[in-house]
Order: sequence, then C-alpha cells, then structure tokens
Amino acid sequence: MFPGVSATPSRRIRFGTALLALLALSACTAGPTFHARRITTTPLPAPSTPTPSLSPSPTAKPTPGSLAWYVSQVPTFPPAPPPQPVPLPATGSAPFWHRLPTEQPVAFITIDDGGLARPPAVIDFIREARIPVTMFLNSPAAEEHTDYFRQIEAAGGVVENHTITHTSLSGRSYDFQKQEICGAADRLETLFGKRPTLFRPPFGNRDASTLRAAHDCGMRAVLHWSETVHEGKVRYQTPEKVVRPGDVLLMHFRPALMDDLLGALKAIHRAGLTPALLEDYIPLT
Ligand SMILES: [Zn+2]
Repeated sequence: MFPGVSATPSRRIRFGTALLALLALSACTAGPTFHARRITTTPLPAPSTPTPSLSPSPTAKPTPGSLAWYVSQVPTFPPAPPPQPVPLPATGSAPFWHRLPTEQPVAFITIDDGGLARPPAVIDFIREARIPVTMFLNSPAAEEHTDYFRQIEAAGGVVENHTITHTSLSGRSYDFQKQEICGAADRLETLFGKRPTLFRPPFGNRDASTLRAAHDCGMRAVLHWSETVHEGKVRYQTPEKVVRPGDVLLMHFRPALMDDLLGALKAIHRAGLTPALLEDYIPLT
C-alpha cells in the first residue's frame, strides 16, 4: 500500500526510527493523518489503534501553503527498485557526474549551501513525506545552524561536502582546493559524526585538481546536476524537458524550498521515476 523508495537495510532502519518518532508524536497530539501519498520505504507496523482514514474528509481539507497541504500534494510514486550501486573508477581522481550512470528509474534531490535561508517547515515536510535528500553544505553554515541540519539528518537526509568558503575552485592550486575540500569534510565530520563521501564544487566549477583533491580527501564522487529548481520551477538543461533516470536535481536552502521540493517531486513523478538517495547508489564499499 505504501510504495517504497529504497530497500537498503540502513534506509529501513533510518526511516523506521523516523516512523517511530512520528508515531510517538501522534500519540501525544490529536493524531495526524498518515497520508497515502507519502514516499515511504518501511512497511507500517500493525497499529494498536484504528488506522486513520487515508481519504481526508471534506472538513479536514488542509489550508493551501500549510505543511499538511504540501504533504497532500506529494504524488504517489512507483516503488523504487533495490539500488544497484554504480561502479567507481579505480583511479587517483574522483569521478565527476552530471547525472548518475544508472538506468534504474530513480532521480536524486540535492539541496545546497545552507547559509541563506532554512525554512523550518522543511524539516517536517522531509520527515512526513519521507523525501530522500542529500545536503551539500558549506561548513561554516553547517556549524552555525547545526541543529537545523541535524533535524533533517534525523528525518533521513544526508550531509555532504560543498567547501568551506564557497569559492570557485577551477584554476586554483591543488593545495588550495585540498584545503577547501578536506577542511570542510573534517568540520562536517566533527559536527555530524560522519565524514562526507560526496562533494559538489561551488557553481559546479572544477578542474583536474578538484577531482584529485576530492579523491585525496576521501570523496567518492564529485556531483554536478542535471536540473535546477527555483521557486517551484524546474529548469531543464536538455530540450526534452524531462527528468531522466539517474538525474540529479539541484535546489538551495532558500525561502521557497518547500515549493522547490514539491516541484522536484512532481517533475520526478511526471517522468515515471521515484526519488532515491544518492548515497544508496554511491556506497562506501
Ligand atoms: Zn553552492
């Protein structure tokens, strides 16, 4: 009844935990309705109380713009296949991808930066709709707003590396680039207890030194993007104007992030794809 996004054990555990938290929350409130359209990976446990209606009653119609409204607008996705990790080259440089080399019917949502705006509702939206997101953070923003990003992490999001100073790296020395990439990775590891494994260069600018430095800092891959999303609108970089398998959608921590997430989900759904987590396709081993 609830189509899955991913079937890896770690995702199940993570989402299982989130689900328990949600159930605990529902026990001490009026009991929020579980929405049928959420993205989910975990079968629901047998409820101890009657299952809430999956069809909202006319009187319970959510107010446009409210969290419940955003959750109600999330499409129903086809089940995601078990992730088949992509092969990584055994060279001294990290691979650079605009989109993941996979034909599986999935696409990936990424959110960058972190310093400009952090809409509070995004935490609940990601948790309740179970949206898989990868956050490429600048380490000073992560440090200043650690609690916000930890809450998204607790909702299933993953923190990755976007340098310290958000400087364009292309053309800079290897040592400079390594300091930006390793320095941010070190700081993010301290803040979140897990070292990033993916890197996105600011503005997408990179050269051969970037890919070598990323590799030497422990980054498994360097990610560009295939589509951008801003104020709810998806901007395609190909004339077909469709999200393709393996595509990576880029948005930012900006005031309209709720609309951006919803716009991305709708575009992925229109393409017959399901959102998935980058890290399930680029694992550590
Ligand atoms: Zn950026």
